[in-house]
Amino acid sequence: MRRISVFGATGSIGQNTLDLVRRDREAYRVVALTGAGNIERLARDAIEFDAEVAVTADPERLADLRDALAGSGVEAAAGESALIEAAQRPADWVMSAIVGAAGLAPGLHALEQGASLALANKESMVCAGPLMMETARATSAKILPVDSEHSAVFQALIGEDLAAVERVIITASGGAFRDWPLEQLAQATPEQAATHPNWAMGQRITIDSASMFNKALELIETKEFFGIEPGMIEVVVHPESMIHALVGFRDGALMAHVGPADMRHAIGFALHHPARQALPVERLDLVKLGQFTFREASETRWPALRLAREVMQAGGLTGAVFNAAKERALDAFIDRRIGFNDMARVVEETLTCVSAQDSLIHAGFTLDNVRSADHLARITADEIMGMQA
Ligand code: NDP
Ligand code: MG
Repeated sequence: MRRISVFGATGSIGQNTLDLVRRDREAYRVVALTGAGNIERLARDAIEFDAEVAVTADPERLADLRDALAGSGVEAAAGESALIEAAQRPADWVMSAIVGAAGLAPGLHALEQGASLALANKESMVCAGPLMMETARATSAKILPVDSEHSAVFQALIGEDLAAVERVIITASGGAFRDWPLEQLAQATPEQAATHPNWAMGQRITIDSASMFNKALELIETKEFFGIEPGMIEVVVHPESMIHALVGFRDGALMAHVGPADMRHAIGFALHHPARQALPVERLDLVKLGQFTFREASETRWPALRLAREVMQAGGLTGAVFNAAKERALDAFIDRRIGFNDMARVVEETLTCVSAQDSLIHAGFTLDNVRSADHLARITADEIMGMQA
């Protein structure tokens, strides 16, 4: 039996992961499941899967979790240190699907104990790509991409020589506002931004798709994960979300990965790697689909893409600053304290302020340094938004 843990089990990726595990229940022993506010779902799943431990990130919910698990034999725990302790429990495969920079430390600890890490938490790569890769190297642990674009690139590269790669193209649906006139974007509401044309995902990543901050994070993730030069990575808008990424080789070939907008493909690929096993995803009827279309990913419409290029150019801990500023700006947009277009402005101003601190940005990739950069960026973004934390 494979021992598995799911961090962020109560979320969209976590639930899709458990759906696959449920279909082949006998093959797995569940070590840890984690969540934050959704105690009911966390307890229900921990009991169903007979987990060793259920962890909520919120220490104030420990009593509720204990109550919900009473008599089940599942341990209850809470808080950041409990998440890390859960990540240190021996497991063969760990899903990293907490949302935001909070996913970094558990993922790192899972790699330190040598588990294969299925990485949905793209923020880990954006904030601390070199630290993640170095930790995996040191323990010979595997990192398997779960972000659909990166799973697609990973699959297109199987058996290929990285030196023969000329470019990588990741696709973007364009999100909720791809067809809106530019002048209207300033008035866009969180509800409008949180409806995705093709994918069913968590609220935060769905809004990030509308602003293209999601694709901006993915550009950086591509650079860090595959070690590909920023100038070789392109973004193209593909409204149908059927082609997830393409890899271009020096002989002119473009290898595209095509599949339905169902995260269970990428999750299942990472779960069964290196084997391919049958997965419950729709088989595409190409004739019915008729056509795939492509458009330019305009940096005027989506300034987040320009900012990602600047971050990749700057290097060091700029990625952690970028992500933290984005998280705060997104919080403020969700709370209606700033408008849709203000998110990119706040992130850009935070980058300008914090990047001036050379000693912080180039302090080196340790968890503490990443946390310091993240912390300073949050304070700075809050100041810029006029609401000191
Ligand atoms: P959701 O918002 O649906 O789920 C987030 C999970 O993280 C939940 O389990 C939530 O708990 C938990 N959580 C929230 N805040 C914290 C915290 N501070 N500390 C610990 N745990 C916390 O997100 P998604 O599943 O959509 O996304 C998860 C990750 O996967 C993100 O990094 C996202 O970018 C990435 N991803 C998602 C895709 C998708 O299709 N959804 C596609 C590609 C990547 P609770 O719900 O109990 O509060
Ligand atoms: Mg993606």
